[in-house]
Amino acid sequence: MSSIKHTVAIVGYGGMGSYHTQLIKESDRVVVTGAFDLLAERRTLAEEAGYTAYSSYEELLADPAVDIVLIATPNDVHKDIALQAFQAGKHVVCEKPVAMSSAEFIEMQAAAEAAGRVLMVHQNRRWDEDFRVIREMYERGTIGSLFQIESRVHGANGIPGDWRHVKEQGGGMLLDWGVHLLDQLLFMIDSKVSSVSSSLSFILGNNVDDGFDAVLQFENGIRAIVEVGTTNFITMPRWYVKGTGGTAIIEDWSLRGRIVAPNHESEKIEPTPIRAGVGLTKTMAPPSEGSTVLEDLPAALEMTSSFYDNLAAVIEGTAEPIVKNAEVLRVLRLIEAIFEAAERNETVKNFDIYGA
Ligand code: NAD
Repeated sequence: MSSIKHTVAIVGYGGMGSYHTQLIKESDRVVVTGAFDLLAERRTLAEEAGYTAYSSYEELLADPAVDIVLIATPNDVHKDIALQAFQAGKHVVCEKPVAMSSAEFIEMQAAAEAAGRVLMVHQNRRWDEDFRVIREMYERGTIGSLFQIESRVHGANGIPGDWRHVKEQGGGMLLDWGVHLLDQLLFMIDSKVSSVSSSLSFILGNNVDDGFDAVLQFENGIRAIVEVGTTNFITMPRWYVKGTGGTAIIEDWSLRGRIVAPNHESEKIEPTPIRAGVGLTKTMAPPSEGSTVLEDLPAALEMTSSFYDNLAAVIEGTAEPIVKNAEVLRVLRLIEAIFEAAERNETVKNFDIYGA
């Protein structure tokens, strides 16, 4: 492994920009050296943290000691900042959603290619442990073939911050959290999406969505339900997954969860009917004693590399990116199909998120 340390300067030293300094400390292949933010108080914070605080973006780009520009600004300015960086010969790591539209991202990719520089998007939630547990089940068939995957994140705090309320800045929850949950599903499921239906929530009265739900049908039969909410005072489980050999639930970020599967050792005993409400049911009665087994969730699938170690290897030409730009483009196109399905209030089919 090479011992070169690649230097990063952060553009947009806000919440996520400053958090990247912690992430980068976990890699010995990459180091943060400087930052630029439009706000003087954020530049002062960067300086206090020991980084060079550039007084303009041009000054940052003119510094030959900077190899990589990390873009952590609001979404509407990602593209222009990236194009300037490529012109100056820098590599770019860009926060998600990488751009306001798939067309913008295609422009960014073309500029990276023309400059011969790396463009990698920080789809960091591919590394989330809860997601890697689901991937383990998907890949190993722990509960048979998955046929329904429900992925939800729920908060009760409304849309955070300032620019996330503004459509022109790329606000709204579909672009904010939706991009993570959709990226996870497309990364995991080796089949094409054939149709999408969705609805956006505007319950808080903003001109951007404060949440959404979407149903994705995959060609291999998997149906995925994706939901993001910011008005949920009681949350639903992070993951609820059904397979041909059982059901799994992951309740929360601390990975509380379980698998319940049929007990193949036991004789088939009919469930006893129960009173449910004012009625009687056998269909909805709990399985009879001994007919199911309770199991722990499997250990999470391992990732081969951290985001930043992978970035260093990609720059050195010794590895493929874990977050590929073709995959990022697909997710942006899927988001566009979800917006369209919500607007038309129809199931959208015949879209092509897979073309070049
Ligand atoms: P933020 O508002 O906390 O920070 C943005 C910073 O950018 C501010 O300090 C602002 O002054 C600065 N800024 C704005 N325009 C600028 C410009 N043209 N040049 C330089 N600085 C500029 O926002 P945030 O929550 O840190 O989000 C920033 C980006 O990170 C967004 O794209 C967001 O979607 C992404 N994000 C990603 C994750 C993740 O888990 N991957 C989490 C949070 C945010």
